[in-house]
Amino acid sequence: MALAKPDIDAARRLLTEARWIGVISHERPDGDAVGSLLGLSLALAQAGKQVAPVLVDGLPSRYRFLPGSAEILSQFPRGVDLLVTVDCSELDRMGLPADQLPRAPDINIDHHPTNTRFARVNLVDAQASATASLLGALLPQFGLQVDSPIASNLLTGIVTDTIGFRVPGVGPDLLRQSADLMDLGAPLAEIYDQTLNRHSLSAARYWGLGLARLQRAGRMLWSSLTLEDRAQAGYAGNDDADLINLLMTIDGADITLVFVEQSEGKVKVSWRARAGLDVARVASSFGGGGHELAAGAMLSGPTPEVIERVLQATRPALGGAARGED
Ligand code: AMP
Ligand code: MN
Ligand code: MN
Repeated sequence: MALAKPDIDAARRLLTEARWIGVISHERPDGDAVGSLLGLSLALAQAGKQVAPVLVDGLPSRYRFLPGSAEILSQFPRGVDLLVTVDCSELDRMGLPADQLPRAPDINIDHHPTNTRFARVNLVDAQASATASLLGALLPQFGLQVDSPIASNLLTGIVTDTIGFRVPGVGPDLLRQSADLMDLGAPLAEIYDQTLNRHSLSAARYWGLGLARLQRAGRMLWSSLTLEDRAQAGYAGNDDADLINLLMTIDGADITLVFVEQSEGKVKVSWRARAGLDVARVASSFGGGGHELAAGAMLSGPTPEVIERVLQATRPALGGAARGED
């Protein structure tokens, strides 16, 4: 692990001294956000701390099976004396203005290479496949125990961020760590089923509307989803229902994009890339961030204009792959 020992020690001290610890992850939470939030929160609670786990968008229903998920709050109570962020690359990723946080973040635990190191103590390891994997290594160093409920949450973060161990960067160490989490009681098959295999009927209808609009521009494959699609499909979320992962299974593209229309003239953009390319840089240029192979950003403007702007800015990221255009 690429973290400095003094930083780990500083975090451990802060956690030991704190009484009431707020833990928060990012808006539109994914499995790594939820698993890391709950894994850390349960470990702290077990050590006798009062803990407030917060997701401003609440808990997506597919993660309700996770131990501790019923404790998740959508806002902070008064009295929090330490604030830890997990899986958040920037101060504004939590989904609420910085002045509405209970205090400035004290500890930032994350694995995004675009992390802006916004806290007092920053434990950022861009080599980690998931924040939950990093946490699995950190908890014992914080003097915290990992039991079966915590293991289930951590393995969920690992399984979801690696889309079931399918992305580059998954190596023997991650599989060994995952096996250890299974030894502690984490149910791999159930985690797969709840988080990756199952989709609601409305999500499938929503995909259908997006797939009908699938387009190819050279080595880029992209689609868009409108607010009207969401209403027509009866899809409750404001995300792409993981359509982007489905697009990545289609041959013939090196970069895939999904544009999801949001209320108030905003468009959420998701990028995915094949190994060797980098879409984090183009996402950062639009104020977003992420990883080389998976990145996102929120843009303003009418969807067709945003699509045009983003496709143009993304083309250089294809590098040599652009030559294969047809
Ligand atoms: P998504 O396309 O939303 O699934 O996100 C892909 C990756 O990009 C994840 O690692 C996210 O944390 C990151 N990401 C998505 N949206 C943003 C954003 N607006 N700002 C920074 N990072 C983002
Ligand atoms: Mn995440
Ligand atoms: Mn993550």
